[in-house]
Amino acid sequence: MPVTQLTAVAIEKSYRKGQHHVPVLQGVEVRVQRGDFMAIVGQSGSGKSTLLHLMGLLDTPDVGEILLDGRRIDDLPASARNELRNRVFGFIFQSYHLLPELSLLENVLTPLMIRNSLWGYWKQRKACVESAREIIARVGLDHRLKHRPSELSGGEMQRAAIARALIARPQVLLADEPTGNLDTRTGEEITDLLASLNEQNQLTIIMVTHDEKVAKLAHRTVRLSEGRIEAAGEAA
Ligand code: ADP
Ligand code: MG
Repeated sequence: MPVTQLTAVAIEKSYRKGQHHVPVLQGVEVRVQRGDFMAIVGQSGSGKSTLLHLMGLLDTPDVGEILLDGRRIDDLPASARNELRNRVFGFIFQSYHLLPELSLLENVLTPLMIRNSLWGYWKQRKACVESAREIIARVGLDHRLKHRPSELSGGEMQRAAIARALIARPQVLLADEPTGNLDTRTGEEITDLLASLNEQNQLTIIMVTHDEKVAKLAHRTVRLSEGRIEAAGEAA
């Protein structure tokens, strides 16, 4: 069933540093609808990654709720959270997190191996490889199937990471500084690719960035400041 709405309600999160509680999020409210492309901007240390991790169930809030189509999901049992994390959410990170020993094709296939168990994967291997090739072509890397990550440029590694995130057909893509390690032009190409996935595939995207120019390519930007979402604005 398609996900139509992901909401963070009154989120609070702090970290302990020695004796001190350092408040990071202090009542954050965010909502994305199906087909949104939202950027979250804010200074380094403002809690952008923390918020993204909470929305994708990689971490749990101290206070507040994460709702998927109105149903609370942050307090589900671990197995149900894992299932949602694997089936609903896709993640990409600043530093790609590709496995260096595997080819591009194998890297993109890993989520399917994990999801299906090795035996299940083996039985469906042909279909899996077919679908991986399709997605790799979609991100413009069909000429790099056998390459290892070390043989790819930064932009190509991020495309590979996007393909790996898409192989499980997520409905919400969470991107944490996806252009953070790339030069301006390559960063724009990656953001353009995200925008086209958003438009053509109705992929909902939440992208965290400290770069205002990158954020402009999203439909909507919200700013995280002093633990709260400051103001919502439509991008030009
Ligand atoms: P951003 O992504 O906006 O740079 P983060 O969400 O990574 O910010 O971090 C927000 C604040 O929380 C920072 O002060 C950071 O040091 C702190 N922080 C983040 N993760 C942890 C953690 N696991 N343990 C302790 N402090 C953390
Ligand atoms: Mg961060």
